[in-house]
Amino acid sequence: MPISVVVVMRDTAVRPPVVVAIGGYGRSGSTLLQGLLAERLGGVALGEVKYLWSRGFARREKCSCGETAPDCPFWRPVLEALLEKTGLSSATEIERLRKSVERNRIFLRHEVLRLPSRSYARRRQRYADILGDLLILCGRHAGRDYLIDSSKDVAHLALLSGITRIRPKFIHLVRDSRAVAFSQKTPKKKAEVWWDTEYMAARGIWSSSGYWIYLNALMRRLDARGDYRVVRYEDLVAAPDATLTALVDWLRHGTHARVHDAALMHAISGNPGRFSTEALALRPDTRWHKAMSPFDRRAVTVMTAPWLHAYGYSLMGKQCAPSAAPSDERP
Ligand SMILES: [Zn+2]
Repeated sequence: MPISVVVVMRDTAVRPPVVVAIGGYGRSGSTLLQGLLAERLGGVALGEVKYLWSRGFARREKCSCGETAPDCPFWRPVLEALLEKTGLSSATEIERLRKSVERNRIFLRHEVLRLPSRSYARRRQRYADILGDLLILCGRHAGRDYLIDSSKDVAHLALLSGITRIRPKFIHLVRDSRAVAFSQKTPKKKAEVWWDTEYMAARGIWSSSGYWIYLNALMRRLDARGDYRVVRYEDLVAAPDATLTALVDWLRHGTHARVHDAALMHAISGNPGRFSTEALALRPDTRWHKAMSPFDRRAVTVMTAPWLHAYGYSLMGKQCAPSAAPSDERP
């Protein structure tokens, strides 16, 4: 093994990777934020780690580098090392375990309502150990200290909060409920599914409004579990430099993590925009202002009004002034 590789592996072995975990509801801009943070930190964009086993390895979907996950030069050796370390036989075996502990309804039942279950606690610990091993192997293989995980689900982020071998930092990404409902209703082709035509799951306005309230409320539970910040999509696209600078300062605070010049992009699952090789475009996506039907707009506004107000959005749906900085204030 070349000396430089040995040095990198020893160096990162003593420093826990900082796992920047983005949470919130889908279509809120997590893929964009992930890419921007990876660029600023010279970190690794991992994508939605919760889908690594099912979509990445079992379905052989494409990584953002263009290879399928089993053929990706980043993920293939990481999986091989993980299976060797854990004694597990396949990604499918890991996915079976993950599905038994890492779902929002299971998180609600056992960790919010606190219904006791010894077998759940055992399986949860087992999967958290595997997740910890995976993330440490990702950091070592890449020789990077910052890993960006855009899984979004609170059940996944809650698991990260209990892994002491990593340094999780949670970003709760919020976007105007009307923009999210408009996007959720719009079919979007999955670029990672190369063998067929498949679309991202679409939802009607009632369903997406309910999920917007539910998932943002669940995300607030992470506030008590460690480093946590709220970021609004609208602030990110209106004032990207100020928003990212404040975020990076916070992400670096209290760590000895190194920032590198170049990011590594090996994102699994997420918005098709992650396959773009162009510089990340920061055009605010405000299509809903003109294209959303008046009925849909009013319905989503009425359903989500108290929370829209709490997050600083105008109920009239006008563009809001950016907040000063990413906030840890409670809405
Ligand atoms: Zn890749």
